[in-house]
Amino acid sequence: MSEPPWRPAYIGVGSNLDDPVVQVRQGIDLLRSLPDTLVTLISSFYRSAPMGPQGQPDFINAVVALVTKLPPGKLLALTQGLEARQGRDRRAEKWGPRTLDLDLLAYSSVKMSDCNLTLPHPGIAGRNFVLLPWAEIAPNYFVPGLATVAELAQSVAGKDPQIEKIG
Ligand code: ADP
Ligand code: MG
Repeated sequence: MSEPPWRPAYIGVGSNLDDPVVQVRQGIDLLRSLPDTLVTLISSFYRSAPMGPQGQPDFINAVVALVTKLPPGKLLALTQGLEARQGRDRRAEKWGPRTLDLDLLAYSSVKMSDCNLTLPHPGIAGRNFVLLPWAEIAPNYFVPGLATVAELAQSVAGKDPQIEKIG
């Protein structure tokens, strides 16, 4: 059997726990530990105000570029395992709210939808906190069925939620 090829994939990393910057950093470190996968680029971190109920902490988001030999379903399953390992509030007695969100934004030129996985991620268009960091690291990547990341990012510039690059 021939080796699977290396293919590009993009992960949206997000958190709004008390110290979400730390959560996002830890999430990125966990992505580095995935088998058959290399982290190639990391965007700046962005802070955005929560869109829903106020009083909850701001969100921190970043986007990570990978190359991977894992097929998309396996990559999703492993990132969900990382969320479960690090993404919960262990101070609470029961499972607390999830504090690390790892979304598989897109994978190579794949378009697919099954009960576990939709690619590209259906929430991409319209989310400045995904598109602005993504455009830093992959402006010319064509999001399958949509447009380039730069074009998508341009269409959300200046829109809600308020967003700020924090470095
Ligand atoms: P959200 O990220 O929308 O807040 P969750 O992280 O809880 O919600 O994910 C909900 C479900 O979305 C997961 O069980 C997963 O199977 C599904 N899903 C479908 N497509 C994707 C994708 N591209 N990336 C991540 N999860 C996905
Ligand atoms: Mg998610």
